[in-house]
Amino acid sequence: MTALVFPAAAATTLAIVGTALRFPVRRVFCMGRNYAWTEAERQPGTQHAFPAFFMKPADAVVPAAGCLAYPRLSADFCPEIELVVALGKDGADIAPQDAHGHVWGYGAGLDLTRRDLQAQAKQQGLPWEAAKAFDASAPVSALLPASAIGHPQAGAIWLKVNGQERQRADLADQLWSVPDLISTLSRAVTLRAGDLLFTGTPAGVAALQPGDVVEGGIDGLQHFSLSIGSR
Ligand code: MN
Repeated sequence: MTALVFPAAAATTLAIVGTALRFPVRRVFCMGRNYAWTEAERQPGTQHAFPAFFMKPADAVVPAAGCLAYPRLSADFCPEIELVVALGKDGADIAPQDAHGHVWGYGAGLDLTRRDLQAQAKQQGLPWEAAKAFDASAPVSALLPASAIGHPQAGAIWLKVNGQERQRADLADQLWSVPDLISTLSRAVTLRAGDLLFTGTPAGVAALQPGDVVEGGIDGLQHFSLSIGSR
């Protein structure tokens, strides 16, 4: 047995609908928005560059429930509703037609963003970590196994704040499909069982205030509700 200087942290795990088994999270990859945000981007024949990808630490993943702390260092804290893909099989250079075979299941999640820090980073040409990778910045619903629900390619994805709708699109509106995202990403890094893929957010992102109630979901998958704590 390997002797450690202190106990290794327990793996982050996610609940799975219909079983007491949990999904062990390995890494978190996030894709840029991946939906058309402007009229120009909606024009047929428009070429869309592969979305920027960035990461969050695995322990930023928390259940999408309860009260979420308003993060430090920010006064512009935004939720982005996203389809979360949970991988169940390792692979590099995965062909698009093989990509679904690497998916264990799906959930709905929030890519939480300190938008003011992101704007600063963009302006200064700096990395996005401060904006994207912070404590509890990746709430995710319970997962549904692909063995039970298949691979959803359509279905409303939406976010409400205090009962008012802010974001609504359909999974079918994704500029890059889940197989294309997996395939392209797997050419840059070897993907691993346990990796989560946040697949980008529709238009309508806006800041949260302490006390806000955030509801989100993907029809046919999971819905969730959480509140925002004080600053
Ligand atoms: Mn996002």
